Amino acid sequence: MAKQETVEHKYVYAFAEGNKDLKELLGGKGANLAEMTNLGLPVPPGFTITTEACKAYLATGEEPDGLADQIAAHLASLEQAMGKRLGDPEDPLLVSVRSGAKFSMPGMMETVLNVGLNDHSVQGLARQAGGVDQEATGGADRFAWDSYRRLIQMFGKTVCEVPGEEFEHALDDAKRAKGTGNDLDLDADDLRGLVDAYKKIFFKHTGREFPQEPREQLDLAIRAVFESWNAERAVLYRRQERIPADLGTAVNVVAMVFGNLGPDSGTGVAFTRDPASGAQGIYGDYLANAQGEDVVAGIRNTVPLQELERLDKKSYDELLGIMARLEGHYKDLCDIEFTIERGKLWMLQTRVGKRTAAAAFVIAGQLVDEGLIDLDEALHRVNGAQLAQLMFPRFRLDHEFQPVAKGIGASPGAASGKVVFTSARAVELAAEGESVILVRRETNPDDLNGMIAAQGILTSRGGKTSHAAVVARGMGKTCVSGADEIDVNVPQRRFVVGGQTVVEGDIVSIDGTTGKVYLGEVPVMPSEVVQYFEGSLDPAHVDNALVRAVHRIMSHADARRRLAVRTNADTGADAARARRFGAEGIGLCRTEHMFLGDRRELVERLILARDNADREAALAALLPLQRADFEEIFREMDGMPVTVRLIDPPLHEFLPPLEQLAVNVAVAQERGEDVAQEEALLAAVRRMHEENPMLGLRGVRLGLVIPGLFAMQVRAIAEAAVTVTRSGAVARPEIMVPLVGAVQELETVRAEAEKIIAEVVGDSGVEVLIGTMIEVPRAALTAGQIAEAAQFFSFGTNDLTQMGWGFSRDDVEGAFFWRYLELGIFGISPFESIDRDGVGRLVRIAAEEGRAARPELKLGVCGEHGGDPESVHFFHEVGLDYVSCSPFRVPVARLEAGRAAVETDGSDSR
Ligand code: PEP
Ligand code: MG
Repeated sequence: MAKQETVEHKYVYAFAEGNKDLKELLGGKGANLAEMTNLGLPVPPGFTITTEACKAYLATGEEPDGLADQIAAHLASLEQAMGKRLGDPEDPLLVSVRSGAKFSMPGMMETVLNVGLNDHSVQGLARQAGGVDQEATGGADRFAWDSYRRLIQMFGKTVCEVPGEEFEHALDDAKRAKGTGNDLDLDADDLRGLVDAYKKIFFKHTGREFPQEPREQLDLAIRAVFESWNAERAVLYRRQERIPADLGTAVNVVAMVFGNLGPDSGTGVAFTRDPASGAQGIYGDYLANAQGEDVVAGIRNTVPLQELERLDKKSYDELLGIMARLEGHYKDLCDIEFTIERGKLWMLQTRVGKRTAAAAFVIAGQLVDEGLIDLDEALHRVNGAQLAQLMFPRFRLDHEFQPVAKGIGASPGAASGKVVFTSARAVELAAEGESVILVRRETNPDDLNGMIAAQGILTSRGGKTSHAAVVARGMGKTCVSGADEIDVNVPQRRFVVGGQTVVEGDIVSIDGTTGKVYLGEVPVMPSEVVQYFEGSLDPAHVDNALVRAVHRIMSHADARRRLAVRTNADTGADAARARRFGAEGIGLCRTEHMFLGDRRELVERLILARDNADREAALAALLPLQRADFEEIFREMDGMPVTVRLIDPPLHEFLPPLEQLAVNVAVAQERGEDVAQEEALLAAVRRMHEENPMLGLRGVRLGLVIPGLFAMQVRAIAEAAVTVTRSGAVARPEIMVPLVGAVQELETVRAEAEKIIAEVVGDSGVEVLIGTMIEVPRAALTAGQIAEAAQFFSFGTNDLTQMGWGFSRDDVEGAFFWRYLELGIFGISPFESIDRDGVGRLVRIAAEEGRAARPELKLGVCGEHGGDPESVHFFHEVGLDYVSCSPFRVPVARLEAGRAAVETDGSDSR
């Protein structure tokens, strides 16, 4: 034990000691700098302090034991490699101190450059930089003093929390005194004066002199980077991007190289392919005589990277060679940052680059063609969320349309409509058939009706987990949130953006994928990917890299997946579309809508029936209508299984609302009209009123209480199947009983159903399965018993989530989920993505116990989760036979089922 305590933890890694797979420990930047170093690429020497050190520091507020010594040892090696000492007055080594977490969090954490400069070493730096281009840089003195003032500014701001504006003001004062607006006009003397001014600001806010000791500067900068992990914006960003809060950041200490030493120096960023379209070829920007921060600050305009060929062919050729090498090595699109110091190229960063959804597919396809990856890997590199994005309609944008603002693409889609500022107005205009965009600073639960009525929602505040964003995603409605250039004035019903005023009734267009906002109506076009799925674009004949890549990867997903994909459809048209999208059956045909429209009258007759004869007459009238519904669907799904769910919602949902009915009756009575029928209806509605209808008389309970209702449906299904089969097609009906909680419920329904089926089917060859939904927690927990009476289970994860959490499906998402997301109680609504630990556990138990009781039991899921990428992986793991989802989600589910197979079952040689 005692011995173990003396073993020192390794907190610092030289670049030569790391590699790209150590991102968790060294952060993305550190791991990739290590990888490039080991590839022999020109990386400035340096070392990485691990995320473990950061976590230890954040837990205790102190650097862990041994860290200081390890830094000293690595600094000594760095000094040796560079032949300079940190902060040496004669010839100083300067270092940058940069954050770098496992997942990229651009700009969220801190960086301090030029550490090692002080009142003495600034002179040394000037000497060392002697011979720099006088005209371009203002000379070596100017360069050195400019570097020093940048250090005090960055250090003051990030390490000691000196308000950044104070430095900005001092800089502005210096420029004003010089009569210029440009930093570059300040000469060495001006900058020397600015350093004095900065030091005073530093003293005023910290009560101490700017630290002159280089190692102290370094230690404080490292601390500041550790602490920036918990800076407010970093915390918010992590929440938004669902990055775990306990990873910590690594810190990279790297020898400084300077891109601002004249025209033979510069800095740039580049991608090895186009991250927007995936097209092959180098994309990037270059800025001569500048440091990286100048590019970000947009002080001067960059030039396309290709210009570098003219400016410095040697560095350009070297860079291209390195980029090709990196792509081959990472087998993926890389992005890089580099600096050229007096004609010498240095690589400052690389990583596998972010890309658009379209580029993800195109690049994965190209990499297969180039032999760099196989199809399994290509499948792993794309995802269902990207595919879903590619299926939304797009704005047809040409040069006329320039965005006026950009917020967060909170819920995808493209929407145009008249601007409204209140929920009530949205409802009013929508009722007149207008498309409206609801514009608010932020939304709250009172806006719900307006959000439902609107085509899209635009807010000036709030992120991806704001109320507007969460609710809009839940409704599948386009939403742009947090477009903060928009100044919304609800009382005056207008907003101002870029000096233009937009009033109620003006038209705007919002793109929920890119977050862009346009004035006027931007025309919409269907996505090419949907045209491909619809069969109107043949990948063999179109010259469209995206469509070809999607086709190729989807075909592979189909070949690899173990889960079948069915659809939730209850009309022939939906069934047909889903089939084109690749559905292999219907997993949920809800029968409720079949009782609406002009059939309401029959339902009323059923409910108001005074005796058996009345009721039977109503059911007899419904029977042929139901039969026709099922025939249409069986025909569309010829040869494929069709799961028809017996009627689920409470019957009063098919009757007029109580208030409306009461008013109608009162008015008619007033007029002396005969209201016997209406009164009976009103009495029935009152009788059937429930406080908690979702927990009331619905599903199987309804079937057990209203004689003949389920029997009529079973008969209609069986008769339709026989008719379709006799006509030469193949009907494969599966009858599903909703809301079962006890095996006795199912047994009762089943006994009656089997009799009817036997009578109808006769020798037609039609086989009808009978199974149940598992959507009540009790059913999941008694699945072993229920399986004795069921030929299949289909998990109704909507109700299972509702009843598992005790969350009303209809209310809670808009009411308080935004707060739960903010608090991190869950990272995503459990109605959107399966709660693996709780609801998922119920699914797992039911699957295991059901199969133990009946090994051939067919298992599927038909709740909304069946089309959610994350959840599909879970259902694969649990061993379900199929997922069922809405038609538009079918391709997403196919893709994710393929990915799940590749990821959990490992690669094969296909
Ligand atoms: C479910 O509960 O998951 C389900 C599919 O049924 P419904 O959404 O119709 O209640
Ligand atoms: Mg349900």
